[in-house]
Amino acid sequence: VVSRDAAEELDRIDPLRDFPARFVAPPDPGRIYLNGNSLGPLPHATAARLADAVLHEWGHQQVDGWDHWLGLSERVGNLIGQTALGAAAGQIVVADSTTVQLYKLASAALDARPDGTAIVVDRGEFPSDRYVLEGLADARGLRLIYLDSHPVHGPQPHAVARVTAAGNVALVCLSLVSYRSGALADLAGVTRAARDAGALTLWDLSHAVGAVDILLDDAQVDLAVGCTYKHLNGGPGSPGFAFVRRDVQTALRQPIQGWFGQEDMFAMGPAYIPRADVGRFQTGTPPILGLVAVESSVRLLAEAGIDRARRRAEVLTRLVVDLFDAWLAPRGFALASPREPHQRGGHIALRHPDAENICRRLQDDHGVVTDFRSPDILRIGPALLSTRFVEIWDAMDRLRRLADETGGGL
Ligand SMILES: *Cc1c(COP(=O)(O)O)cnc(C)c1O
Repeated sequence: VVSRDAAEELDRIDPLRDFPARFVAPPDPGRIYLNGNSLGPLPHATAARLADAVLHEWGHQQVDGWDHWLGLSERVGNLIGQTALGAAAGQIVVADSTTVQLYKLASAALDARPDGTAIVVDRGEFPSDRYVLEGLADARGLRLIYLDSHPVHGPQPHAVARVTAAGNVALVCLSLVSYRSGALADLAGVTRAARDAGALTLWDLSHAVGAVDILLDDAQVDLAVGCTYKHLNGGPGSPGFAFVRRDVQTALRQPIQGWFGQEDMFAMGPAYIPRADVGRFQTGTPPILGLVAVESSVRLLAEAGIDRARRRAEVLTRLVVDLFDAWLAPRGFALASPREPHQRGGHIALRHPDAENICRRLQDDHGVVTDFRSPDILRIGPALLSTRFVEIWDAMDRLRRLADETGGGL
């Protein structure tokens, strides 16, 4: 089994070893934060940048701030695209929540496939995504086809090919990294399988962005959305992004026609004429302070490099799995994530019948923050640029002791 010294050695040789100190640490020194996939931690630089934007931009410039706030949604989109998505400029806007972005792109995709009769979604997909698609299917009289993917390995290209070949599918909507198991889907393979059947694919990158080196342009992805407050560390409620491949932008119309998507918004003209670029997917005034925070945090990721962040995700999660094998498998836990690092994102799911109680006691009595997903999943989500390897070791050690204290009667 890996010793604590060996975990400390991983920190010493880590190419990103200076990054943990660049994040704000809570005052309680014993606290270990392993919920980076729900809400990423706060970089010092982002705290300072936000304070500066509040005082000097909002406070001093007042409405003149719009001279540079206009276009921020697309500039931050380009930065995310270049840093973490393998996407050329001019294909991403950042505004609205991820759920709203998903609704807008799904709706636009369905309009572009008027003969389609069905939408495909994974049965285990993130609830908000399923609810949006359920609503769209109801409103349009479409069939919702649920893909019963393997709970650990997620959706496979052959399954998508089979289900799309069977019916007249307009849209396939899937997560690149499963919020439960962390399984990493085959972006290019699934996209190709859906396209071959005439369906558009809308990817939700919420748990993947910042944890995986995503190549949207290479995979010829048409549509994607994602979160900025998870592994991009944009802060609570920071806006989601929408990616629309350049070639399909003018063929798609979004359903919420607002002035930020209008060709010449300040002409205040009588009729809606959507912009001819990705800007047409904007609706109303974007949350500027949220965008400022996202921009600052994504710059930190750019400095680290997505390839090194990805590598770190693999080594952090491998340490979790190694210690699980040694300590937790014999104590009634099961691994609910793929074993191979290249088949998963940045978090690990462990299954235990009493996961809810374990999660609560691990935080209340042992200072380790994880999260619980009903009915029996404990998610261990390192913050990929700030969790130290020795913290993983200590957290798993505390989890082992918690299991022993209660003698299996958790
Ligand atoms: C986190 C997450 C969301 C969150 O959506 P919000 O609109 O920001 O609340 C949506 N979908 C997936 C797959 C997620 O992981």
